[in-house]
Amino acid sequence: MAALAAPNGPNRVGASPTPAPAPLVGVLALQGAFIEHLAMLEQLGVSGRPVRLPAELAEVDALIIPGGESTTIGKLLVDYALLEPLRARVHAGLPVFGTCAGAIMLARDIGREQPLLGVMDMVVERNAFGRQLQSFEADLPLEGIAGPPLRAVFIRAPVIRAVGPGVRVLARLPDGRIVAAQQGPLLATCFHPELTQDTRLHRLFLEAIPARR
Ligand code: GLN
Repeated sequence: MAALAAPNGPNRVGASPTPAPAPLVGVLALQGAFIEHLAMLEQLGVSGRPVRLPAELAEVDALIIPGGESTTIGKLLVDYALLEPLRARVHAGLPVFGTCAGAIMLARDIGREQPLLGVMDMVVERNAFGRQLQSFEADLPLEGIAGPPLRAVFIRAPVIRAVGPGVRVLARLPDGRIVAAQQGPLLATCFHPELTQDTRLHRLFLEAIPARR
């Protein structure tokens, strides 16, 4: 026989003030290294969810655009009817973290025609390292962020050629080229922090998410 639920049992709602719901962080999962970002969010104890559809985008409080191939990601954003809704949400304040191809998607200008969000005031050059340096790693000091240099993994990476006045530079290569930058809730890195164990840039990004009400 089924037991009746106790009216004042442990699941009773309203017994104590409800904590603010935790933010839900989307990871654009059309192409590229989205699994690694989801794993990093899990490591940080943050709810993450792959985003492929406009309805999924509408539910997230922030979005990560992973590395991959920016031409493919841009084409799929158009095909999946995500480009315009995503741009609208960024203009409404959605925090976005773009790594590598994701940084390219955020750029205002990349010197060639391909679908972009164009929301961050920076000029980005794709595939900025020659064949010899298609992939490399470097230890980069993070400007204004405490701790040791960050191990940065570059894979057919872009560089940030120029930034506007509202953009804060976070990391440079030894030759001075910019490889990480922040503009309000928008964060861009030319390298792949999700391929290391260093969570500082993800944590910096998560700080930009406003508390849910
Ligand atoms: N070369 C790629 C592009 O131009 C980016 C590479 C990456 O995301 N690791 O889109």
